[in-house]
Amino acid sequence: MSIVDTNTTGTLPLWIGGKAVAASGTRTGDITNPATGAVIRKAPMANKADIDAAVRAAAQAFEQWRDTPPLRRARVLTRFRELLEANRDQFARLITQEHGKILADAAGSLQRGIEVVEFASGVPHLLKGEHAEDVGRAVDCHSMLQPLGVCAGITPFNFPVMVPLWMFPVAIACGNTFVLKPSEKDPSASLRMAELATEAGLPDGVLNVVHGDKEAVDALIEHPDVRAVSFVGSTPIARYVYETASRNGKRVQALGGAKNHAVVLPDADLEFATDAVIGAAYGSAGERCMAISAVVAVGAIGDKLVDSIRDKAAKLPVGPGDQGGVEMGPLITRAHRDKVKAYVDTGVAEGATLVLDGRAFEVSGREQGFFIGPTLFDKVRPDMTVYKDEIFGPVLVVLRAESLDDAIDLINRNPYGNGTAIFTRSGGAARRFQNEIEVGMVGINVPIPVPMAFFSFGGWKNSLFGDLHVHGMEGVYFYTRTKVITTRWTEDRPVGSSFVMPTLGR
Ligand code: NAD
Repeated sequence: MSIVDTNTTGTLPLWIGGKAVAASGTRTGDITNPATGAVIRKAPMANKADIDAAVRAAAQAFEQWRDTPPLRRARVLTRFRELLEANRDQFARLITQEHGKILADAAGSLQRGIEVVEFASGVPHLLKGEHAEDVGRAVDCHSMLQPLGVCAGITPFNFPVMVPLWMFPVAIACGNTFVLKPSEKDPSASLRMAELATEAGLPDGVLNVVHGDKEAVDALIEHPDVRAVSFVGSTPIARYVYETASRNGKRVQALGGAKNHAVVLPDADLEFATDAVIGAAYGSAGERCMAISAVVAVGAIGDKLVDSIRDKAAKLPVGPGDQGGVEMGPLITRAHRDKVKAYVDTGVAEGATLVLDGRAFEVSGREQGFFIGPTLFDKVRPDMTVYKDEIFGPVLVVLRAESLDDAIDLINRNPYGNGTAIFTRSGGAARRFQNEIEVGMVGINVPIPVPMAFFSFGGWKNSLFGDLHVHGMEGVYFYTRTKVITTRWTEDRPVGSSFVMPTLGR
């Protein structure tokens, strides 16, 4: 029996101190199946008292967990990874049911999360400090990476498993304890992960899951016993969380929204670039922070590229994510679908050329589902709303540029800097692009350059507030603090008082 499955109805519990507990308040939020529009279950909105209970459980668990040898922590994570793999199907179904993305994409996102657990399972090696013998006469020096205490994670709706897995496996591997607040729109998979972590041998209180909205987030980021906050979501909330949590003395990494450009140079392979852009623009209905939402067509390739994208995108099979043959599912909520449609209206009103219009798209028998078809704009200018805003839907805009210089200029002027890609056969052009572009993650003939778990993931500019990216070594540094110990054994070399700045090398 799982704590939650696709058949679960009613209000979900919180997971505090290794068990399911009911939230104390009465406020709830609807969890809908975006393919049907039906409310399937509810998420309780945790209040300050609930958050305090979760933080207290985590603080108590920290006392023992921090002293558990990293090797033992790693073994728990290895068992956790095995359980995630054994339940792959259930996770994919839960993700598709609450988020809408297609099953294969849901399973792929779980796999990318599992890779972070694999990375974190190597923590005995990752926590090794540095050692130097004889930094002075008979003086040695070594450093240690120690855990911070209670860490909090606040995650978005678009990757209900992968983004939580960017955070808590690394945090707990490093000896911290964790309170996770997943998106209230699709929180079930997080509860199931916490249950499996307990089954894997994680002591009670090391990982806690709370649900909720601003009230829960505020209580977490202001709580005096929370030492570090990892946030992933939209830019306005990322900025708010960064500022509020920093003001409250916490270490913060807050990843925000994006507008990711793909530059297609005239020498690119047209078919390859078309296929890559279509997958990156319309996969997961454009609800990815690394989705390509703007194409910069350079020079003569523009007309051919737009025709080619239109022809293929028009044939994209759209429907419920659990239906075979479908490549693109619905959007997360009705309100979001209507917002995306309104962006298309604005694009038309502002004079962009609407090449493919998904606004009237419906799936027969699923008229209440939150569907919209693939949409394509051409001849978009940088001052247009459809270019300036993150739409977070299957709306791709094409801008034209005269040269690689113009394309680099355009991207560097954009306030976001999460991901970007270039399509070319020229090594020189690609090398210039990777060097000069002010974006954190760059693909060269790779449309969605999401770094593997053993590298770090993070954008620049308004796509990340804070200094350290998630997972990889930056994740380890985020969840630890460094202590440096300088040691002298004086039995054979007595030293007297010194009143000058120590210069050990003397
Ligand atoms: P969101 O900002 O609405 O919500 C993210 C989290 O913040 C949720 O847990 C939510 O409950 C909480 N939240 C919402 N409003 C809040 C408020 N006023 N005060 C405090 N907390 C609040 O984002 P979303 O719609 O769930 O996710 C989509 C966004 O996330 C997109 O902008 C996307 O680009 C971004 N995203 C970024 C990355 C990245 O790595 N940079 C990854 C995934 C998603």
